[in-house]
Amino acid sequence: MAITGIKGFNDILPGEVEKWQYIEATARRVFELYGFSEIRIPIMEKTELFARSIGDATDIVEKEMYSFVDKGDNRVTLRPEGTASVMRAFIEHKLYAQDSVSKLYYMGPMFRYERPQKGRYRQFHQIGAEVTGVVDPMIDAQVLNMLCHFFAELGLTEPRLEINSLGCPECRPAYRQALKDFLRSRLELLCDDCKRRFETNPLRALDCKAAGCKEATAGAPSVLDNLCAGCEDHFSKTKQYLDSAGTPYSVNSRMVRGLDYYTRTTFELVTGLLGSQSAVAAGGRYDGLISELGGPAIPGIGFAMGVERVALLLSDKNFTRRPDLFIAALGTEARGFAFKLMGELQAKGVSVEIDYDGKSLKSQLRRSDKFNSRFTLVIGEDEIAKGTAQFKDMDKGTQADIRLETQDIFAALRP
Ligand code: ATP
Ligand code: MG
Repeated sequence: MAITGIKGFNDILPGEVEKWQYIEATARRVFELYGFSEIRIPIMEKTELFARSIGDATDIVEKEMYSFVDKGDNRVTLRPEGTASVMRAFIEHKLYAQDSVSKLYYMGPMFRYERPQKGRYRQFHQIGAEVTGVVDPMIDAQVLNMLCHFFAELGLTEPRLEINSLGCPECRPAYRQALKDFLRSRLELLCDDCKRRFETNPLRALDCKAAGCKEATAGAPSVLDNLCAGCEDHFSKTKQYLDSAGTPYSVNSRMVRGLDYYTRTTFELVTGLLGSQSAVAAGGRYDGLISELGGPAIPGIGFAMGVERVALLLSDKNFTRRPDLFIAALGTEARGFAFKLMGELQAKGVSVEIDYDGKSLKSQLRRSDKFNSRFTLVIGEDEIAKGTAQFKDMDKGTQADIRLETQDIFAALRP
């Protein structure tokens, strides 16, 4: 029996991969407009990095990590997200010493042991961006503008932006306590997960999908009514900056991110088109993370988007590439000529396809149709002898004689 891939780990095949390349290229182009540089981080880190940054009582650390002990007895984990690694690298290489502000983006696979379904896999891909060193809410708004700009460039009207503030170490403890006091009499309604994390992470009940949790949290105190003056001011300025940029958003005071490191601004880009996989991108501010990881007290903000979910939103668009030219060649001499011409044109940056089997003209032209090439050149013995051949514009349905010189053909392909 043939060996198959692992459940939840997907191949991205030609036909689909062009869409991925388009998403990645668009992200690079847009992010670079905002001054971001790429950072490439490893796929594996010490387990403690994720435990310490993401938080012990989160879904990721509790149940989703691919952790193992390697041959040298080291506890390692396949990265479940990118922020922890980027911040680890930021501290390790003292990137803060080069400039007070750093803007980094990354893209690549992440690993979480989850139940695979549409839009949710065990190896999935994120494109993310992080800014460090800016306290001003101007950067919160700019990061959100960039993210919305990216989706607009893809021609998508979904997802929609939702924002919230989770407060800071000054005001969140009191809010947590108020929420716990509120929920204590309704504990029985909570789902098992939320019951279990009632002490360690009670906020999660607010965005839990279980019916009992929705009932229990109805009328619960809102985090936005419990912000300290600093967080209140930060949130209202963030909204003002978004308004001034004309970026549409809605406030969702029940949004709770599943990672412990978030402070103040948090956000999600959500869609109704992907069932329960509604979050396409998510992120927030993490003012305490860098010092928590042993670095200086530098604030940060960032996001990650799920490339699979972005690709699903783009599903009806066709990204397959078409060759510039298909050469149909009949007979040994013409085939030899076609081979040489193909190489010369490719060296000049033209994409060329031929038929490798030397089949009939009819079958070669069928192949040209299948490739949807822009132009087709037909050559046989006569054409080689004359030094001219028929050059067909497949889109216009016209054809003309062309000299069988690389320069002439190149010029005709690039009007
Ligand atoms: P969800 O609520 O769907 O589990 P999450 O809150 O765990 O998402 P984040 O950790 O914020 O997600 O990751 C950012 C983005 O990465 C998500 O918005 C989503 O698009 C994508 N993502 C997360 N987990 C997966 C997965 N298992 N498969 C595919 N994409 C994922
Ligand atoms: Mg998740």
